[in-house]
Amino acid sequence: MARPAWSEPALPLPVLSVSRAALLRFLLAALVIALLPLLFDNPYYLTIFQGMAITYLVVLGLNLLMGYTGVASFGQAGFVAIGAYVAVLLTKRLDQSFWVGLLVGPLAAALAGTLLAVPALRVRGPFLVMITAAFGLVVWQVANTWAPVTGGPMGISGIPRPAIGDFRFDARAYFYLVAFTALLAHALISNLIGSRWGRTLVAIRDAPTAAASLGVNVALWKVGVFTLSAYLAGLAGVFAGFRNPFLNSDSFRVAESLGYLLAAVLGGLGTVYGPVVGTVVLAAIPHVFAPLYDHQLLVRGALLVVTMLVLPRGIVGSLGTFRGLAARLTGRLQAPPAIPWAPALPPAATAANGPLLESRKVTMLFGGLRALDGVDLTIAARQIHGLIGPNGSGKTTLVNVISGIYRPTSGSVVLAGRPIDQLPAHAIARRGLVRTFQTPNLFRDLLVIENVLVGFHTHLRRGFAHHLLRTRAAIAEEREAAARALGLLEYFGLADRAFVPAGSLPYGLQKLLEIARCLAAGPVLLVLDEPAGGTNPAEVERVVAILNRLREAGVSVLVIEHHMDVIEALCQRVTVLDFGRVIAEGTPQQVLTDPRVIEAYLGAPVGGVGEVAPR
Ligand code: ADP
Ligand code: MG
Repeated sequence: MARPAWSEPALPLPVLSVSRAALLRFLLAALVIALLPLLFDNPYYLTIFQGMAITYLVVLGLNLLMGYTGVASFGQAGFVAIGAYVAVLLTKRLDQSFWVGLLVGPLAAALAGTLLAVPALRVRGPFLVMITAAFGLVVWQVANTWAPVTGGPMGISGIPRPAIGDFRFDARAYFYLVAFTALLAHALISNLIGSRWGRTLVAIRDAPTAAASLGVNVALWKVGVFTLSAYLAGLAGVFAGFRNPFLNSDSFRVAESLGYLLAAVLGGLGTVYGPVVGTVVLAAIPHVFAPLYDHQLLVRGALLVVTMLVLPRGIVGSLGTFRGLAARLTGRLQAPPAIPWAPALPPAATAANGPLLESRKVTMLFGGLRALDGVDLTIAARQIHGLIGPNGSGKTTLVNVISGIYRPTSGSVVLAGRPIDQLPAHAIARRGLVRTFQTPNLFRDLLVIENVLVGFHTHLRRGFAHHLLRTRAAIAEEREAAARALGLLEYFGLADRAFVPAGSLPYGLQKLLEIARCLAAGPVLLVLDEPAGGTNPAEVERVVAILNRLREAGVSVLVIEHHMDVIEALCQRVTVLDFGRVIAEGTPQQVLTDPRVIEAYLGAPVGGVGEVAPR
């Protein structure tokens, strides 16, 4: 079905758009890089600086993965090894130049990353850590034992220095090459983090289910970030491979993976400058713990544990001046003038033929428990449809089924004439069914306005390359989206809170924000799970006022609610569930006087229909 899309602005050429402050920071960093080998002019320091620049590339990718997306990897050294061996073998065996290796090595690592991520991301938590650790170990073992190709522990020798024409990169020039590549990577990744990309990653980290319910293909995004982090590790690998004339498997031990992890955590996960600080500290560790030089695994492991216990937010995260993502994004969004918002009706919601949503014989089993038992539900367009029933009667489960969080055990669900019961949550959201959660499921670390912006996810068109390069088109789109988000927040009376982290809102406002976020998606059907649940009377009034305005605008809504007066005031039709079955359906008056409904509710320890929270 056609969805309302942003008016496409005439696309200017993808010209880089760089703020003066960003340019200044970039030039300052370039100056530091240029001066380092001149100030510390000896081969020993040069080796250390090279190592830091190489490590930084890995940690940058790992921070993107762990810090922003919340996906752990214990096996980055495996990708470094793949980048290194592929590039070195290309030169040694196939007579290719360093530059071909620089192109192909990281791509090979990225491919390995994709292949590993697809199965690995199906599992969670400790298993993912184990899979990535196993991967790192396997790559090292292969490098160590496949002697005919990798040279095993003896290694490959006679690796040529990179050259351009007659110019051979000596140690200092090589440092410049690596360090300026790292700086460029830093700038590009910062662009991504400050864009829709970074926002989506943090959304996935904070509340993956909510992100999916707004149309984000969470699995695909995770595979994408995993691949990108593997690419960066592979890039580091190429530089590591050509650093010396000699390469063996020692550089890719598990202790290396642990070092990258330590640098990312110690620096501060999810901060822009954490990887810089972490890399510097990591480089200093062998000197500080010189007597333990041969026990890097032990030292790094111990430091990692200590860091996670005493400094879980890392050095940069604990400084507090950065306030994570929030402060940085505020600077970038710069509160544009709001574009007033009003509910826009997608074509499907206005089409009068047939019901908007229809469930037939939907059954959901949890083990032996029949949470839903043959539920038939028909929702007409442009109505507010109530769903009530005692606690545990299956209301939330029904919402989870129709929004794709659960796949029904049996039965069918049709939205605007098309079956959706086999679709994943993000695909259902893209069809226009968008829902809130009984307990607010906000992206707590994102700003209020950013939560709404994630709601716009499926409407934003500028992709990876635009945000990586921070093109004018990408910025124009972000500005317009921010202006619309502000308008939407004004509609909800939340504009004065637009630039605070969503997690800091009072409970009632969190529930309102969740509704606003859904409306940003331009839903065909808006599904609200107890929008006024757990809120105080003033907040209930605000929710009711909003729902009234939506009703007048003709937005189609399915609402679960315990306040019967709210149901009576708002709903054209009501369906009643009890023990997973539909026991009544009709107008609020019909339903609330139905003997079966009264009986279901009178099982409650107190009162009758109307005054009480049901059992
Ligand atoms: P309601 O929203 O009407 O209060 P729910 O849909 O949350 O009710 O729950 C219906 C029944 O299904 C309850 O008995 C609940 O314990 C059970 N249930 C809900 N979700 C799950 C789950 N993920 N696993 C097992 N049982 C569940
Ligand atoms: Mg519920």
